[in-house]
Amino acid sequence: MAPDHDHGHSHDPLPPRGARGDAAAAPRPPATAGQDWWGAWVDAWTTGLTAPVALTVPALLEALGHSAPPSSSADRRTAGLWSDPVLALGSSLALSEPATARLAQQRAAELLGWVQQHSRFYRVHHTPAGVQPRWSDLPVVDKRLMMVHFDDWVTDPRLTLERVRGFAADPENLGELLDGRYAVWSSSGTSGEPALYLKDRASLNLYEQLLQTRMDRRCASGRWWWQAAAGRLGPWGLQPRSALITAIDGPYASISFWMHQMTQHPWLRSGSRAFSVTWPGERLREELNGWQPSFIASYPSMLTELARWQRDGRLKLAPLALWSGGERLVASTRQWIEQVFQAPVVNDYGASECLSIAFECSAGRLHLNDDWVILEPIDRAGQPVPPGVPSHSVLLTHLANRIQPLIRYDLGDSVTFFAERCACGNPRPSFLVEGRTDDSLCLDNGQGQRVHLAPMALTTAVEDGADVHRFQLRQTTPDGIELRLDLSRSAEPERTRGAAVTALRRYLAAEGLPRARIDLSDEPPLLDARSGKLRQVVCLCPARG
Ligand SMILES: [Zn+2]
Repeated sequence: MAPDHDHGHSHDPLPPRGARGDAAAAPRPPATAGQDWWGAWVDAWTTGLTAPVALTVPALLEALGHSAPPSSSADRRTAGLWSDPVLALGSSLALSEPATARLAQQRAAELLGWVQQHSRFYRVHHTPAGVQPRWSDLPVVDKRLMMVHFDDWVTDPRLTLERVRGFAADPENLGELLDGRYAVWSSSGTSGEPALYLKDRASLNLYEQLLQTRMDRRCASGRWWWQAAAGRLGPWGLQPRSALITAIDGPYASISFWMHQMTQHPWLRSGSRAFSVTWPGERLREELNGWQPSFIASYPSMLTELARWQRDGRLKLAPLALWSGGERLVASTRQWIEQVFQAPVVNDYGASECLSIAFECSAGRLHLNDDWVILEPIDRAGQPVPPGVPSHSVLLTHLANRIQPLIRYDLGDSVTFFAERCACGNPRPSFLVEGRTDDSLCLDNGQGQRVHLAPMALTTAVEDGADVHRFQLRQTTPDGIELRLDLSRSAEPERTRGAAVTALRRYLAAEGLPRARIDLSDEPPLLDARSGKLRQVVCLCPARG
């Protein structure tokens, strides 16, 4: 365990950097930008509010019988989270949507003011000519920019990329906080240097609160009690056992957060255990059979593997629910896993940038945690995309994390927002996501033109055409795709191979690529070496615009 650093500093407000720390220098809050996407977004969720009320957060909290929220100090914000009425009561709170939107606006305005004072990068990036931009004028940022400007970006001058990287490299620090204040997570990037993410205590508390209050409640079904009665929920029949199966050999978000939770709540340790995705199957099965978890959390490709073992009789588990994250969960795969385990698969949408962006409801939609996260779907040109249209990418603003602020950060995922409310009754904005683990492909059509192919369309074509769910499409040349199939579940492997090639050829022809090369490989899909995840669509050709 790492020594407990620097607690003496934890209550000091951070000193402002540079000369311009005054509030007047902060950009206008987004609330005043009525014509842009933010305005439209807020308007969409404030329908029915005919006469806008000047509803401030303190006024709102007072009306709800809570004291005014703490102001900007990171540590006071942390304390405030625990009494935040929105978080405390989760989605069941009868807070009107206009109030939620205003809460988000208020937090966005505070964040903009904060980065003006404390982030050298944002101070220059946001106001290059000293003008006060509208929300939609704020320039987009991304992972590359964040890593290049790491030291100027973070809002604690004691942190440097070199220090953070050194902390992340020491396995002893897994689950520990740098300077006793900041979690350090690494991306499982497939090439180059992994990105490093910093989370302050407020963010960590937020993730925990969101998980506790907004996760799908299907876990708490009647079976829970049946299992408790049968003594299968641990020695006291009270605490269900859980298993996290993930990449555990680096400070990745899921294992790091899990370790942090164990540190914060030692009583959880007896009922929770982490397993490595890279263990040999035999060891994993043996340990899982011995542990008998009631809740299992992993990637969809790992859950698929478990379901196959369960069906073969090599695994004998009776989970109450399975939790899927980190990769796109295909509907047919999900149904199959649920059928094998006779338990619901609960899905969520998070990233190293923000662990809890949205939770899935029983209707199969992801509901945005819109009081803490702003998501802006954009097209290829960076323009807002209306509901119903799949976006090219999506911009994330994390309203809680102050140490490494992410404002209009390009996540790279394609999302499709729904225009109409969800049937489940949750009023939060809902959407579907196409996981970022898949690449877009770009093939030459033989006539000097390049055709872009969306990963979800490609995989759906193969899935529907061949009823195969574990496969990989790899673009290795400018004009060809390699298809790798896992046929260990197929009753008629030869037929499946033929059907998959036919389905892919038909799809490519429809996209204007009748002569595209398809190489059917005998090799199984290659899992990502670092994370153990299955990326279904991989581009191995350098991008050429
Ligand atoms: Zn819903």
